[in-house]
Amino acid sequence: MWAVRVSKSFSAAHFISGKESKCENMHGHNYRVEVTVGSKDLQPPGMVVDFVELRSRLESILPDHRLLNEVYNFNPTAENLARHFYNEMAKFYPVLKITVWENEDCCAEYSPD
Ligand SMILES: [Zn+2]
Repeated sequence: MWAVRVSKSFSAAHFISGKESKCENMHGHNYRVEVTVGSKDLQPPGMVVDFVELRSRLESILPDHRLLNEVYNFNPTAENLARHFYNEMAKFYPVLKITVWENEDCCAEYSPD
């Protein structure tokens, strides 16, 4: 089986409700989102998917320079963002996994099983 992965960065603000910590205060992250797509077969000329198309689709769903709490009706943790981005990308590609990096040290991953 093959897997291909592309990544794209975006910047956004959020605050996390329901946890008494500094995360309750509005702050920003330079997020990086990775999408991994898998296939047992290659499409001509020998690709799982076109990297440019995949990355363009990923970019189209990322809420760049937005306040995530206003964009979504869920608490915008990295975990919830990963599941949301999975659901969006899985409409178009056989996605294996989404990884959301909040910074260079911390990430959350979502895959459907
Ligand atoms: Zn945060």
